[in-house]
Amino acid sequence: MLKSSFFQRFPFVPPANFDFHCHSTVSDGLLSPGEVARRAAENGVDLWALTDHDDLGGLTAARAAAVEAGMGFVGGVEISIEWQGVPIHIVGLGFDAADPTLGAGLDELRNGRIERAKRMGAALNAIGIPGAYEGALCFVTNPSLVSRAHFARYLVSIGIARDLPGVFQHYLSPGKPGYVDHRWATLAEAVGWIRGAGGVAVVAHPGRYKMSGGNMRKFLDDFKDLGGQGIEVTCGSHSPDHVLHFARLARSYALHASRGSDFHGPQDGYTDLGKLPSLPEDLKPVWRLLR
Ligand code: AMP
Ligand code: MN
Ligand code: MN
Ligand code: MN
Repeated sequence: MLKSSFFQRFPFVPPANFDFHCHSTVSDGLLSPGEVARRAAENGVDLWALTDHDDLGGLTAARAAAVEAGMGFVGGVEISIEWQGVPIHIVGLGFDAADPTLGAGLDELRNGRIERAKRMGAALNAIGIPGAYEGALCFVTNPSLVSRAHFARYLVSIGIARDLPGVFQHYLSPGKPGYVDHRWATLAEAVGWIRGAGGVAVVAHPGRYKMSGGNMRKFLDDFKDLGGQGIEVTCGSHSPDHVLHFARLARSYALHASRGSDFHGPQDGYTDLGKLPSLPEDLKPVWRLLR
């Protein structure tokens, strides 16, 4: 259904401003799917994807609001995986949202998040911060999708840190006291679910991963071998140097390039929808794969 409505909007002129990465209250964003759609359209986005973490529950409302606003829409998701011990995110685009294998895989990922959140609460309790699990739940907008962002908002609200980057730096990043290991999906599962549902798999915000150059190349080899086709080159967390670096990798790996703000909400200091530099002109934009 999602896919057919997307196809109805093609062929059209190439998008002037596509944004293929953002979040709503269906995961750890602050606006509802419809509010995110309207904000994207107001910001001049003409082809938009909602990519909530591990959940497709916002796509129907997002599509309806996008159509209402006269904006092209692509169904999306951001899947949490681990590859050789590194937590990584894979964006899926343009898949069949009714695909049962994709749906079952995402259900299992969400269920694991609740148990992980309880262990995060226990880990924070052990360093003298009681009640963080219950506190984080007060910020949760989808009961089956609790994220570190919800813990971060709670910890800022009680004055443990001044802002989200501070709380991640000191408490919630790998190696910090509130971080617990978790079994996410594998790279093969995430890419397989997305491809199996007819979608395109994209490496999210590659500049954020703590990986050597050699490891990144090995990761991209695996990603390509499994059927991955895209990489975010411009995104909310990329510096100008990251853009140049990942543009080079997109060229040498013949990956299509994506562009995504990773917007989570107006107050959180994230890049706003559609407010990103354009992709370097020689790169193949990922929306071409969605026709
Ligand atoms: P999780 O999927 O539960 O591991 O949570 C990851 C989420 O935490 C990301 O999607 C962001 O919303 C948020 N996050 C991670 N690192 C940071 C950071 N340094 N600053 C702000 N938010 C972050
Ligand atoms: Mn998030
Ligand atoms: Mn991410
Ligand atoms: Mn994201």
